[in-house]
Amino acid sequence: MPHAHAHAAILSIGDELVLGQTLNSNSRWLATRLADLGILTREHVTVPDDASAHAAAVRRLAATNDLIISTGGLGPTDDDLTRLVMSDVLGSPLIEDAQSLQQIEAWFTSRGRAMPEINRVQAKRPTIATAIANPHGTAPGLHARVSTGSHACDVYCLPGPPSEMMPMFEQVVSNLRPPGKRRVITRVLPCFGMGESEIAMRLGGLMARDASPLVGTTASGGVVSCRIRYEG
Ligand code: AMP
Ligand code: MG
Repeated sequence: MPHAHAHAAILSIGDELVLGQTLNSNSRWLATRLADLGILTREHVTVPDDASAHAAAVRRLAATNDLIISTGGLGPTDDDLTRLVMSDVLGSPLIEDAQSLQQIEAWFTSRGRAMPEINRVQAKRPTIATAIANPHGTAPGLHARVSTGSHACDVYCLPGPPSEMMPMFEQVVSNLRPPGKRRVITRVLPCFGMGESEIAMRLGGLMARDASPLVGTTASGGVVSCRIRYEG
């Protein structure tokens, strides 16, 4: 039985995210869903559409996490590098996945169009990876295990558009392995009428970084939100 997915990282890929042109809503959504499942996200990383930065991030995160969910870079154009990067990291050449190709062609046919030749590249996957069907778009996802010495990390690559990424994540959930009996429960308690420092003083030891449950505060406008997180 492979080990549990105790620690996860979320990797977001896209120039538009790094430049601030698009809000990275995927990482927020994924971290929340993983916490619901009892899987703790330790790190969010966002890289541009740059193969070497992307590959370095996958290698670094795979060395210390059990699970990486990446989003983006699975489109058909030259700036969509996820397939190539995964092929490089895995040392596994790209092959065309016949079933993915069929699904992409069917997606266009159902819209009364022929598949543009450029989309054919989306059917490619590293030989040792498996494709994840995308019922809402043309980009199949990928799953592979990246090994670093004796440590193995499951990497799931999902497309960037939230309307495609979210239903595909739900397909992946049955393959995730939250650590047995562990739960992560979070609550947010909005407070008002008191400053953040006064609230912090009253909370005292509850805010110690090793407390469980752990309480943190964030102030915004006139509201101080007390974020409570329990893991156990
Ligand atoms: P891609 O899969 O890289 O072709 O992404 C296509 C589109 O998905 C982008 O133009 C963005 O609008 C959207 N997108 C990509 N990554 C994210 C993200 N992390 N959060 C929200 N939207 C995203
Ligand atoms: Mg992109």
